[in-house]
Amino acid sequence: MTKNPAPAIKCQWFALCPNPPAGTIAHPILGEVPACQRCADRMGKRLDTAQNRA
Ligand SMILES: [Zn+2]
Repeated sequence: MTKNPAPAIKCQWFALCPNPPAGTIAHPILGEVPACQRCADRMGKRLDTAQNRA
């Protein structure tokens, strides 16, 4: 048996989005959802990144 692999983090905004998340989008129910810049742009949402979070 192998150890549990690290979870493959993908953009969580769209289930089919294969992009790696570039940050998070504040979701009214789910909270901070990992998302890529493309999804943030498409939804007109602000992507919170390590850069602009400070
Ligand atoms: Zn995405």
